[in-house]
Amino acid sequence: MPVLTRLIPSPVVVDISAGALDDLAGLLADQRISSSGKLAIAISGGSGAALRDRFAPALPGADWYEVGGGTLDEAIKLADAMKSGRYDAVVGMGGGKIIDCAKYAAARIGLPLVAVATNLSHDGLCSPVATLDNDAGRGSYGVPNPIAIVIDLDVIREAPMRFVRSGVGDVISNISAVADWELSHRETGEDIDGLAAAMARQSGEAVLRHPGGCGDDDFLTVLAEGLVMTGISMSVAGDSRPASGACHEINHAFDLLYPKRAAAHGEQCGLGAAFAMYLRGAREQAAYIVEVLRRHGLPVLPGEIGFTDEEFVKAVEYAPQTRPGRYTILEHLDLSTDAIRDAFADYAKTVSS
Ligand SMILES: [Zn+2]
Repeated sequence: MPVLTRLIPSPVVVDISAGALDDLAGLLADQRISSSGKLAIAISGGSGAALRDRFAPALPGADWYEVGGGTLDEAIKLADAMKSGRYDAVVGMGGGKIIDCAKYAAARIGLPLVAVATNLSHDGLCSPVATLDNDAGRGSYGVPNPIAIVIDLDVIREAPMRFVRSGVGDVISNISAVADWELSHRETGEDIDGLAAAMARQSGEAVLRHPGGCGDDDFLTVLAEGLVMTGISMSVAGDSRPASGACHEINHAFDLLYPKRAAAHGEQCGLGAAFAMYLRGAREQAAYIVEVLRRHGLPVLPGEIGFTDEEFVKAVEYAPQTRPGRYTILEHLDLSTDAIRDAFADYAKTVSS
């Protein structure tokens, strides 16, 4: 008999709620995660200490690893430190950097990863990709999706608001990324995965149209669910396509051209998405995205994150080189520097009026 449906690699536990961490020990004792309680827990050197103080008494079989996160070297060092520990699973407890570091390290030693997210800065919380800095800049590494994801809204509310808002920009940028995917499907014949596109777009639209703000649990729930679903949409598609188009090429260009001054991931992606929607002629949608980003305190002009207009033009021009082979509105229009400058001037005028 043929297989009538496909199986999607996805976490066995998704818990997004206020107080989700109150029974972390019970959740981790799930037979599918760690029946023996032998866990390696990665935390940050700074704010991780408070998490360790809170959870260590309930997790006597756990070893705690302080990591800086962020770089490939750190992730390899963490894997080396953990590899002789006979653990059932690795727990990454912290922000995006710690989770990416733990994700890569867990994949390297063949252990499942539990992601305990303490902020909502990007859609990598539950994705099959770890973003880490290497000698050449910044790389995206394929890894298995987490086996469990826990997001405690009580903890998220304590996170720096800027990092929570960043997730808003990242998930809203899905709308532009899916539009790029559809454009490529029309223009180059690239296959489009309808399920992955649906999951990514629904997540973006839900956050875009939600009337709440980063202070409400209702909104934070939809945002966290959107980020988790977006991560899973990447597993469905087999790459980051559903959540990464021109918006992310512009973001990568900021990271590579101005590494010391780059803003939060979602701040750059949101701005990139607004401009990309404008470029593709979706003026009404672009205007609505701008309005919503503004309402959440996210940047819609480069000056709002410390870049000049000319630096933004340079980033847009460089953007296609950050993702060779990905066809987006930028590759489609293939604009000259002067044309980008003119388009940006029009965009800026519309946004400012
Ligand atoms: Zn992103």
